[in-house]
Amino acid sequence: DRTPVTVIGLGRMGSALAGAFLAAGHPVTVWNRSPEKAGPLVERGAVRAATPAEAVAASPLVVVCVLDYAAVHHLLAPAGAALAGRTVVNLTNGTPMQAGEAAGLVAGHGAEYLDGGIMAVPPLIGTPRSLILYSGSPEAFARHRTTLEVLGTATHLGSDPGLAPLHDLALLTGMYGMFSGLLHATALVRAAGVGARDFAPMLSSWIKTMADAALPRIAEYADTGEHGGPAGSPLAMQAAAFANFLDTGEELGVRPDLILPLMRLVERRVADGHGDEDIHGVLDLLTTDPKEN
Ligand code: NDP
Repeated sequence: DRTPVTVIGLGRMGSALAGAFLAAGHPVTVWNRSPEKAGPLVERGAVRAATPAEAVAASPLVVVCVLDYAAVHHLLAPAGAALAGRTVVNLTNGTPMQAGEAAGLVAGHGAEYLDGGIMAVPPLIGTPRSLILYSGSPEAFARHRTTLEVLGTATHLGSDPGLAPLHDLALLTGMYGMFSGLLHATALVRAAGVGARDFAPMLSSWIKTMADAALPRIAEYADTGEHGGPAGSPLAMQAAAFANFLDTGEELGVRPDLILPLMRLVERRVADGHGDEDIHGVLDLLTTDPKEN
Protein backbone atom coordinates (compact mmCIF):
# COMPACT_ATOMS: atom_id res chain seq x y z
CA ASP A 1 0.00 0.00 0.00
CA ARG A 2 2.44 2.63 -1.20
CA THR A 3 0.18 5.69 -1.70
CA PRO A 4 1.41 8.00 -4.47
CA VAL A 5 2.45 11.34 -2.97
CA THR A 6 2.92 14.78 -4.50
CA VAL A 7 5.30 17.24 -2.86
CA ILE A 8 4.95 20.91 -3.86
CA GLY A 9 7.83 23.12 -2.69
CA LEU A 10 11.34 21.71 -2.77
CA GLY A 11 13.25 24.03 -0.48
CA ARG A 12 15.38 22.53 2.28
CA MET A 13 12.33 21.06 4.01
CA GLY A 14 10.26 20.05 0.99
CA SER A 15 13.26 18.23 -0.52
CA ALA A 16 13.74 16.32 2.75
CA LEU A 17 10.04 15.37 2.81
CA ALA A 18 10.09 14.17 -0.81
CA GLY A 19 13.34 12.28 -0.17
CA ALA A 20 11.79 10.44 2.80
CA PHE A 21 8.76 9.37 0.73
CA LEU A 22 11.09 8.11 -2.03
CA ALA A 23 13.24 6.23 0.50
CA ALA A 24 10.08 4.52 1.81
CA GLY A 25 9.15 3.38 -1.71
CA HIS A 26 6.25 5.75 -2.47
CA PRO A 27 5.72 6.97 -6.04
CA VAL A 28 6.55 10.69 -5.73
CA THR A 29 5.62 13.59 -8.01
CA VAL A 30 7.31 16.93 -7.35
CA TRP A 31 6.96 20.56 -8.36
CA ASN A 32 9.01 23.61 -7.40
CA ARG A 33 8.93 27.21 -8.62
CA SER A 34 12.64 27.01 -9.46
CA PRO A 35 12.62 23.77 -11.45
CA GLU A 36 16.30 22.89 -10.94
CA LYS A 37 15.66 21.97 -7.30
CA ALA A 38 13.73 18.91 -8.52
CA GLY A 39 16.90 17.51 -10.19
CA PRO A 40 18.33 15.43 -7.29
CA LEU A 41 14.88 13.97 -6.52
CA VAL A 42 14.20 13.10 -10.17
CA GLU A 43 17.56 11.26 -10.20
CA ARG A 44 16.24 9.22 -7.27
CA GLY A 45 13.03 8.32 -9.12
CA ALA A 46 10.64 11.22 -8.56
CA VAL A 47 8.49 12.49 -11.44
CA ARG A 48 8.68 16.21 -12.22
CA ALA A 49 5.31 17.88 -12.87
CA ALA A 50 5.15 20.85 -15.24
CA THR A 51 2.64 22.89 -13.20
CA PRO A 52 1.19 22.86 -9.66
CA ALA A 53 -2.15 21.68 -11.13
CA GLU A 54 -0.43 18.74 -12.86
CA ALA A 55 1.36 17.92 -9.59
CA VAL A 56 -1.93 17.99 -7.65
CA ALA A 57 -3.61 15.73 -10.23
CA ALA A 58 -0.87 13.09 -9.94
CA SER A 59 -1.56 11.83 -6.37
CA PRO A 60 -4.38 11.41 -3.82
CA LEU A 61 -2.07 12.88 -1.15
CA VAL A 62 -0.61 16.33 -1.83
CA VAL A 63 1.99 17.74 0.58
CA VAL A 64 2.71 21.47 0.32
CA CYS A 65 5.76 23.00 2.02
CA VAL A 66 6.68 26.49 0.84
CA LEU A 67 7.82 29.70 2.51
CA ASP A 68 4.47 31.13 3.60
CA TYR A 69 0.69 30.97 3.13
CA ALA A 70 0.67 33.66 0.45
CA ALA A 71 2.69 31.19 -1.67
CA VAL A 72 0.28 28.36 -0.71
CA HIS A 73 -2.72 30.35 -2.02
CA HIS A 74 -0.80 31.45 -5.10
CA LEU A 75 -0.06 27.78 -5.92
CA LEU A 76 -3.34 26.09 -4.97
CA ALA A 77 -5.90 28.59 -6.25
CA PRO A 78 -5.13 27.86 -9.95
CA ALA A 79 -5.07 24.09 -9.23
CA GLY A 80 -8.85 24.43 -8.65
CA ALA A 81 -10.72 21.47 -10.12
CA ALA A 82 -7.67 19.17 -9.87
CA LEU A 83 -8.00 19.32 -6.06
CA ALA A 84 -11.37 17.52 -5.88
CA GLY A 85 -11.28 14.28 -3.92
CA ARG A 86 -7.67 14.69 -2.75
CA THR A 87 -6.10 15.35 0.61
CA VAL A 88 -3.93 18.45 0.94
CA VAL A 89 -1.40 18.38 3.80
CA ASN A 90 0.00 21.87 4.24
CA LEU A 91 3.25 21.82 6.23
CA THR A 92 4.06 25.49 5.62
CA ASN A 93 4.66 27.51 8.78
CA GLY A 94 1.76 29.88 9.44
CA THR A 95 -0.81 31.12 11.94
CA PRO A 96 -3.99 29.36 13.15
CA MET A 97 -6.08 31.91 11.23
CA GLN A 98 -4.14 31.28 8.01
CA ALA A 99 -4.70 27.54 8.49
CA GLY A 100 -8.46 28.13 8.74
CA GLU A 101 -8.43 30.18 5.52
CA ALA A 102 -6.38 27.56 3.66
CA ALA A 103 -8.77 24.82 4.91
CA GLY A 104 -11.68 26.85 3.51
CA LEU A 105 -10.00 27.30 0.13
CA VAL A 106 -9.21 23.58 -0.14
CA ALA A 107 -12.67 22.47 1.06
CA GLY A 108 -14.21 24.82 -1.50
CA HIS A 109 -12.54 22.71 -4.20
CA GLY A 110 -13.87 19.44 -2.73
CA ALA A 111 -10.63 18.31 -1.08
CA GLU A 112 -9.83 17.37 2.51
CA TYR A 113 -7.34 19.46 4.47
CA LEU A 114 -4.73 18.80 7.10
CA ASP A 115 -2.50 21.51 8.46
CA GLY A 116 0.80 20.54 9.98
CA GLY A 117 3.65 21.84 12.09
CA ILE A 118 7.06 20.27 11.58
CA MET A 119 8.95 19.96 14.85
CA ALA A 120 12.21 18.90 13.19
CA VAL A 121 14.99 20.19 10.96
CA PRO A 122 15.48 18.73 7.45
CA PRO A 123 18.15 16.10 8.37
CA LEU A 124 15.82 14.63 11.02
CA ILE A 125 12.93 14.05 8.58
CA GLY A 126 12.28 10.32 8.25
CA THR A 127 13.93 9.53 11.61
CA PRO A 128 12.24 8.79 14.96
CA ARG A 129 13.40 12.21 16.26
CA SER A 130 11.08 14.02 13.85
CA LEU A 131 7.64 14.97 15.20
CA ILE A 132 4.96 16.41 12.95
CA LEU A 133 1.78 17.84 14.46
CA TYR A 134 -1.39 17.67 12.37
CA SER A 135 -4.87 19.16 12.65
CA GLY A 136 -7.91 19.24 10.40
CA SER A 137 -9.90 16.40 8.84
CA PRO A 138 -9.71 13.35 11.20
CA GLU A 139 -10.82 11.09 8.30
CA ALA A 140 -7.97 12.28 6.08
CA PHE A 141 -5.50 11.76 8.92
CA ALA A 142 -6.75 8.21 9.58
CA ARG A 143 -6.59 7.38 5.87
CA HIS A 144 -3.05 8.68 5.33
CA ARG A 145 -1.54 8.13 8.75
CA THR A 146 0.78 5.29 7.70
CA THR A 147 2.13 7.34 4.80
CA LEU A 148 2.59 10.46 6.97
CA GLU A 149 4.48 8.39 9.56
CA VAL A 150 7.21 7.96 6.94
CA LEU A 151 8.20 11.55 7.82
CA GLY A 152 8.39 10.92 11.58
CA THR A 153 6.01 10.61 14.51
CA ALA A 154 2.58 11.86 13.39
CA THR A 155 0.30 13.36 16.07
CA HIS A 156 -3.25 14.55 15.27
CA LEU A 157 -4.43 17.30 17.64
CA GLY A 158 -8.06 17.75 16.56
CA SER A 159 -10.36 18.76 13.73
CA ASP A 160 -9.79 22.54 14.05
CA PRO A 161 -7.09 23.15 11.40
CA GLY A 162 -5.55 25.92 13.54
CA LEU A 163 -4.49 23.54 16.33
CA ALA A 164 -1.27 22.34 14.68
CA PRO A 165 0.04 25.86 13.93
CA LEU A 166 -1.00 26.98 17.44
CA HIS A 167 1.06 24.19 19.05
CA ASP A 168 3.88 24.68 16.55
CA LEU A 169 4.15 28.42 17.25
CA ALA A 170 3.86 27.92 21.02
CA LEU A 171 6.65 25.32 20.97
CA LEU A 172 8.81 27.56 18.78
CA THR A 173 8.36 30.58 21.04
CA GLY A 174 9.34 28.38 23.99
CA MET A 175 12.44 27.41 22.05
CA TYR A 176 13.36 31.00 21.25
CA GLY A 177 12.94 31.98 24.90
CA MET A 178 15.36 29.18 25.73
CA PHE A 179 17.78 30.47 23.05
CA SER A 180 17.66 33.90 24.75
CA GLY A 181 18.81 32.33 27.98
CA LEU A 182 21.48 30.18 26.31
CA LEU A 183 22.88 33.17 24.41
CA HIS A 184 22.93 35.52 27.40
CA ALA A 185 24.52 32.93 29.70
CA THR A 186 27.18 32.07 27.11
CA ALA A 187 27.91 35.76 26.51
CA LEU A 188 28.51 36.22 30.26
CA VAL A 189 31.03 33.38 30.57
CA ARG A 190 32.75 34.33 27.30
CA ALA A 191 33.12 37.93 28.47
CA ALA A 192 34.64 36.65 31.73
CA GLY A 193 37.16 34.50 29.81
CA VAL A 194 35.61 31.15 30.87
CA GLY A 195 35.54 28.47 28.16
CA ALA A 196 32.00 28.26 26.76
CA ARG A 197 32.56 24.61 25.80
CA ASP A 198 33.37 23.74 29.42
CA PHE A 199 30.29 25.65 30.62
CA ALA A 200 27.87 24.23 28.03
CA PRO A 201 27.13 20.83 29.67
CA MET A 202 26.38 22.55 32.99
CA LEU A 203 24.05 25.03 31.29
CA SER A 204 22.28 22.32 29.30
CA SER A 205 21.65 20.15 32.34
CA TRP A 206 20.46 23.16 34.38
CA ILE A 207 17.98 24.26 31.72
CA LYS A 208 16.51 20.74 31.47
CA THR A 209 16.24 20.43 35.27
CA MET A 210 14.55 23.83 35.63
CA ALA A 211 12.11 23.22 32.76
CA ASP A 212 11.01 19.95 34.35
CA ALA A 213 10.74 21.56 37.79
CA ALA A 214 8.93 24.77 36.78
CA LEU A 215 6.55 23.69 34.02
CA PRO A 216 4.10 21.59 36.06
CA ARG A 217 3.40 24.54 38.39
CA ILE A 218 3.16 27.04 35.53
CA ALA A 219 0.71 24.72 33.75
CA GLU A 220 -1.36 24.12 36.88
CA TYR A 221 -1.60 27.86 37.50
CA ALA A 222 -2.60 28.45 33.86
CA ASP A 223 -5.37 25.83 34.02
CA THR A 224 -6.69 26.33 37.57
CA GLY A 225 -5.42 29.66 38.92
CA GLU A 226 -4.08 27.68 41.92
CA HIS A 227 -0.60 28.46 43.22
CA GLY A 228 0.07 24.91 44.45
CA GLY A 229 1.42 25.93 47.87
CA PRO A 230 3.83 28.62 49.03
CA ALA A 231 6.48 29.77 46.55
CA GLY A 232 9.94 28.23 47.05
CA SER A 233 11.39 31.10 45.02
CA PRO A 234 9.20 34.18 45.59
CA LEU A 235 9.33 36.90 42.96
CA ALA A 236 10.60 39.55 45.44
CA MET A 237 13.72 37.39 45.95
CA GLN A 238 14.05 36.78 42.19
CA ALA A 239 13.81 40.53 41.47
CA ALA A 240 16.85 41.13 43.69
CA ALA A 241 18.83 38.55 41.69
CA PHE A 242 17.83 40.26 38.43
CA ALA A 243 19.64 43.40 39.63
CA ASN A 244 22.78 41.27 39.98
CA PHE A 245 22.39 39.96 36.41
CA LEU A 246 22.28 43.55 35.16
CA ASP A 247 25.25 44.70 37.27
CA THR A 248 27.40 41.73 36.22
CA GLY A 249 26.45 42.20 32.57
CA GLU A 250 27.41 45.86 32.78
CA GLU A 251 30.76 45.05 34.44
CA LEU A 252 31.54 42.48 31.75
CA GLY A 253 30.17 44.48 28.83
CA VAL A 254 27.23 42.16 28.03
CA ARG A 255 24.05 43.83 26.78
CA PRO A 256 20.93 43.14 28.88
CA ASP A 257 18.53 43.17 25.90
CA LEU A 258 17.55 39.50 26.12
CA ILE A 259 16.76 39.43 29.85
CA LEU A 260 15.32 42.92 30.36
CA PRO A 261 11.79 42.16 29.13
CA LEU A 262 11.27 39.41 31.71
CA MET A 263 12.90 41.55 34.41
CA ARG A 264 10.44 44.39 33.72
CA LEU A 265 7.48 42.02 34.07
CA VAL A 266 8.83 40.50 37.30
CA GLU A 267 9.32 44.01 38.76
CA ARG A 268 5.79 45.01 37.77
CA ARG A 269 4.34 41.88 39.34
CA VAL A 270 6.21 42.62 42.59
CA ALA A 271 5.05 46.27 42.48
CA ASP A 272 1.46 45.01 42.02
CA GLY A 273 1.77 43.17 45.37
CA HIS A 274 2.59 39.65 44.14
CA GLY A 275 6.16 39.44 45.48
CA ASP A 276 5.31 36.31 47.48
CA GLU A 277 4.29 34.33 44.37
CA ASP A 278 6.52 32.28 42.12
CA ILE A 279 7.33 33.25 38.51
CA HIS A 280 4.12 31.70 37.13
CA GLY A 281 2.19 34.83 38.18
CA VAL A 282 3.84 36.67 35.26
CA LEU A 283 1.35 34.74 33.07
CA ASP A 284 -1.35 37.15 34.24
CA LEU A 285 0.58 40.10 32.79
CA LEU A 286 0.97 38.38 29.41
CA THR A 287 -2.67 37.54 28.80
CA THR A 288 -4.77 40.41 27.52
CA ASP A 289 -8.30 40.28 26.23
CA PRO A 290 -7.83 40.06 22.42
CA LYS A 291 -10.75 42.47 21.99
CA GLU A 292 -8.76 45.17 23.82
CA ASN A 293 -5.76 44.95 21.45
P1 NDP B 1 13.42 27.29 1.85
O1 NDP B 1 13.71 28.75 1.90
O2 NDP B 1 14.55 26.32 1.72
O3 NDP B 1 12.40 26.97 0.66
C1 NDP B 1 11.28 27.81 0.44
C2 NDP B 1 10.42 27.16 -0.60
O4 NDP B 1 9.27 27.99 -0.83
C3 NDP B 1 11.10 26.99 -1.96
O5 NDP B 1 10.64 25.80 -2.55
C4 NDP B 1 10.60 28.22 -2.70
O6 NDP B 1 10.67 28.09 -4.10
C5 NDP B 1 9.18 28.24 -2.23
N1 NDP B 1 8.51 29.53 -2.45
C6 NDP B 1 8.71 30.70 -1.79
N2 NDP B 1 7.90 31.64 -2.26
C7 NDP B 1 7.17 31.08 -3.25
C8 NDP B 1 6.16 31.55 -4.13
N3 NDP B 1 5.71 32.81 -4.07
N4 NDP B 1 5.65 30.68 -5.02
C9 NDP B 1 6.08 29.40 -5.08
N5 NDP B 1 7.03 28.89 -4.28
C10 NDP B 1 7.56 29.71 -3.37
O7 NDP B 1 12.56 26.99 3.15
P2 NDP B 1 12.32 25.57 3.87
O8 NDP B 1 12.10 24.52 2.88
O9 NDP B 1 13.34 25.37 4.92
O10 NDP B 1 10.95 25.89 4.64
C11 NDP B 1 9.68 25.66 4.04
C12 NDP B 1 8.63 25.68 5.16
O11 NDP B 1 8.97 24.68 6.12
C13 NDP B 1 8.60 27.02 5.89
O12 NDP B 1 7.26 27.38 6.17
C14 NDP B 1 9.36 26.73 7.17
O13 NDP B 1 8.94 27.56 8.25
C15 NDP B 1 8.99 25.26 7.42
N6 NDP B 1 9.96 24.60 8.28
C16 NDP B 1 11.30 24.61 7.99
C17 NDP B 1 12.21 24.05 8.86
C18 NDP B 1 13.68 24.07 8.58
O14 NDP B 1 14.47 23.84 9.52
N7 NDP B 1 14.12 24.29 7.34
C19 NDP B 1 11.77 23.43 10.14
C20 NDP B 1 10.33 23.40 10.31
C21 NDP B 1 9.48 23.99 9.42
P3 NDP B 1 12.04 28.46 -4.88
O15 NDP B 1 12.93 27.25 -4.72
O16 NDP B 1 11.61 28.70 -6.27
O17 NDP B 1 12.60 29.69 -4.22
